[in-house]
Amino acid sequence: MNELVNLEILTKTFDGLPVGVGIFHIPDLENIRDIRYVYMNKVVLYEMKKSKEEVFGKSILEVAPEAYEHPGGLMVLETYKKVAAEGGEVNLGLVEYSNHMVAGTYECSVHQIQKHYVYVMLRNVTELEKAKNDLEIKNQELNQFAMIASHDLKEPLNSLSGVIQLFRSEYEEKLDDQANELLSFMSQANKRMLSVINDILDYGRLGQGKELTTIDCSEVMEVIKQDFTAKLSETNTTLQVGELPIIKGYKTEVRLLFQNLISNAIKFRRPDVAPIVKVSVEQKNGWTFAVQDNGIGIAEEHKDKIFNIFKRLHSEFEYEGSGVGLAHCKKIVDLHKGKILVESEQGVGSTFYFTIPEDLASADL
Ligand code: ADP
Repeated sequence: MNELVNLEILTKTFDGLPVGVGIFHIPDLENIRDIRYVYMNKVVLYEMKKSKEEVFGKSILEVAPEAYEHPGGLMVLETYKKVAAEGGEVNLGLVEYSNHMVAGTYECSVHQIQKHYVYVMLRNVTELEKAKNDLEIKNQELNQFAMIASHDLKEPLNSLSGVIQLFRSEYEEKLDDQANELLSFMSQANKRMLSVINDILDYGRLGQGKELTTIDCSEVMEVIKQDFTAKLSETNTTLQVGELPIIKGYKTEVRLLFQNLISNAIKFRRPDVAPIVKVSVEQKNGWTFAVQDNGIGIAEEHKDKIFNIFKRLHSEFEYEGSGVGLAHCKKIVDLHKGKILVESEQGVGSTFYFTIPEDLASADL
């Protein structure tokens, strides 16, 4: 310590922190029954509903004996002992406390200060966790609402299609060119609306009731190549696929993911440049896949928005599509607890990257 720092300054600093900080002394590194509170900042004392006089210098056994009475509490105390002995830090993740002083969910990490001493950082995330759960429920409700509404909307649209057809056949001779043209517009608008509704239904169904399986990505790519044979030759596209791994995931969704990205890579080609599409993978953050093209590219300001449903950068006349492809991709990658992003340069090409955790089965789905 230098002459500018004293205990009062340090105490005030720690008491002002928005997270809980507590220092523990573990005199006997073989035994967890004599762990002592050295210092707890205001946040921890508030959560414990105790004054510093009741805590500082006391043993946990005196102040909170129930910590020794359940496996969760013992695990935390064992961690204090281990870190005090071996050094480093341990992130305990979310810890549930429920004793007479503290109740709720805390994010907790333990760090060695020096041998026999650790400090613990605590953040009360009870409200946050509850909000997350509520949000999840609301999302499910919203999804259900969209599914029911879309499903019910199909019925009148199908009837309208039928009525248009009937009207056409009944009155064919009596209709002039203008009336026929107007009927065609109606029919096209009707078809577009049905196709948007089908897109919404597909989006909502992604990942529902699916099971994790082992997927050989090379096999998936073979199927896609077959399906795309005509498109590849029509557009003079070279599709280069590197060695791909066997992963854990949702098979139909993974196929759809590759298919959408490759289909876009071909669709958004430069008019005078034959498309070259490269699919590769790297073992980084689990598996990091890349689908690279030499197409028109995407402007910086649009890079995040294109993953939103129905977001398109071009008119139907320039490039056909409905703007759900990448929203599907994003949802599929989210289902796999991964991330998707794009790097791109306009007029040069784009690379879409997505990650899939290596051991998805234990990735907290
Ligand atoms: P769609 O292809 O039906 O328009 P997507 O959701 O698949 O919808 O893509 C959204 C938008 O992102 C596209 O309209 C396009 O502007 C842009 N985009 C997607 N992939 C590429 C790509 N490989 N190269 C350039 N632009 C792309």
